[in-house]
Amino acid sequence: MPIRILPPDVASKIAAGEVVERPASVVKELLENSLDAGASSVTVEIQEGGVERIRVTDNGGGIPGSEVELAFQRHATSKLQGPEQLDSVATLGFRGEALPSIAAVSRLSLTTRSSGADAGYGVHSEWGRITRSTPEGCPQGASVNVSDLFGNLPARRKFLKSNAAETSRVHDVVARYALVYPGVRFQLTVDGRSVITTPGSGKGRETLLVLYGPEVAAAMLEVSVHDPDTGWSVEGFISPPSVNRANRTYMTFFINKRWIQSRTLSYALEQAYYGLMPEKRYPISAINLGLPYEDVDVNSHPAKREVRLRQEGRVFSTLQRAVREALIAHSPVPQMSPPNGSQAVAAPPPAAGPSFFPRAAFSVPRPTVQSPPDAAAPGQYPPALKVVGQLKLTYIVAEGPEGMFLVDQHAAHERVLFDKLKLDADQRTTPSQPLLDPVAVELSPSQLEVLREQGDSLQTYGFQLEAFGDGAYLLRSVPQALTGQDPGKSLLDVLDLVPFEGLVHQQEDVLAASIACHSAIRAGKPLAEEEMTALLEQLEATPNPHTCPHGRPTMIHFSSYHMEREFGRR
Ligand code: ADP
Ligand code: MG
Repeated sequence: MPIRILPPDVASKIAAGEVVERPASVVKELLENSLDAGASSVTVEIQEGGVERIRVTDNGGGIPGSEVELAFQRHATSKLQGPEQLDSVATLGFRGEALPSIAAVSRLSLTTRSSGADAGYGVHSEWGRITRSTPEGCPQGASVNVSDLFGNLPARRKFLKSNAAETSRVHDVVARYALVYPGVRFQLTVDGRSVITTPGSGKGRETLLVLYGPEVAAAMLEVSVHDPDTGWSVEGFISPPSVNRANRTYMTFFINKRWIQSRTLSYALEQAYYGLMPEKRYPISAINLGLPYEDVDVNSHPAKREVRLRQEGRVFSTLQRAVREALIAHSPVPQMSPPNGSQAVAAPPPAAGPSFFPRAAFSVPRPTVQSPPDAAAPGQYPPALKVVGQLKLTYIVAEGPEGMFLVDQHAAHERVLFDKLKLDADQRTTPSQPLLDPVAVELSPSQLEVLREQGDSLQTYGFQLEAFGDGAYLLRSVPQALTGQDPGKSLLDVLDLVPFEGLVHQQEDVLAASIACHSAIRAGKPLAEEEMTALLEQLEATPNPHTCPHGRPTMIHFSSYHMEREFGRR
């Protein structure tokens, strides 16, 4: 076939396909236009998954009547004046492609009245051709009505999922924008039913309440870090480790208030929870990173979902540090859950909402109570703990200035050992215990595999091994943490634990975790008072005293305030 330039209507359908993939992408583009127009209220209405109809109405600045038709032309935008501005885009739109792309694959009506104008203006287009363009009365702002989406592209329409699935994607887009624009009132109506209404009060926690319900909203932790030197900021909400989800879809990131998907940022967030979050669980987040516009290249993806960052490594560590600091600062000691839940939950910070006290032995549900204003602020834990005794040969009962603490002896010791092993390994000073007589050990094929992968780390942590022919080794020294235990058996146990720990930990930490898990005091071991005191002191000195390396709590707190409430003294 000879080379030919495509007719304009084919070219525009192709171009439209890049921007408009499905109803949710239409909603995203229209929402972004409303936000760029400075709207304080945006209503999204969809019918039949958005295929039948999508209408987005805002109260923003609107479009002057003389410019409305121009907005339907490709590359027509009011947001970029010259090429140099492409290096520092401050608006969500800038490509001038959304309206023409959506118009090319639907029947589209736009009515708008710009601020200060007496009259409004309406344009109707069918499959990319304007069929009506007249003055029209309407409120200030803009309303875009899109119907019969992809009616002229049956192939594209076939690729859409069920109405319910497309609706849920639209819901997702509206919810994410609502999270990061708390000052804007968002409304989403699905087939005439109102499903999201945010107050637009400017308070992020009120949006969280609408989207996630009261418990999550109260528990979420605020992150607010500003660096005046660089102009960088990290702002938003993250869930405490106890509030988590089975997949990553609840992690929302914005850069300069633009919703983006970034594996780097997801990874940075997960890293910040490392050792605090239970295995294979993921946080909820709604975070906006503020970066100088010139450090972000937004022009790398037609739907603007991905951005290139000039200093990606630094963005990674800034996000990770901000989140980690918020987690450590807020991480309270878990308090007992109400009667219907059996495991401990992390209590929200006192000012943020209700906290719980055990009623496990009682059947009457108890109303949640506000923490008292004089409760110790989170982050001050653990206070100096005094041993009261041992319970079930598993828990240390301790008294602190703010009540009673139950400490899991194995989890606590594991945390102490893990942190110490890591610190020593970082400084290359792990103490090793030479054996008077070397011990011969025989390794199974899977243990040999671990040895092949972890040989260097084994040495770093104090194991000295010498090949002794055919799967056999001579063990000459062991980590000091293992002193007093059968050295050969310890080595084999540690090698067996490595693959298991590998599921939870980063490669460089698996050995420390395995050694810590193996050598930590077991449940069921009687402890002398001095041993318990020493353990609590060591626990208090670690940077993350509240969880073991697998994310389980090391202690549960029974506050004096709640005890007094329970006994009717308050
Ligand atoms: P872009 O957003 O990239 O500029 P669009 O095709 O989405 O391109 O929109 C074209 C132009 O139409 C915008 O630059 C803006 O001036 C105007 N516009 C679109 N939607 C609205 C709206 N809701 N309120 C005010 N102006 C709008
Ligand atoms: Mg736009």
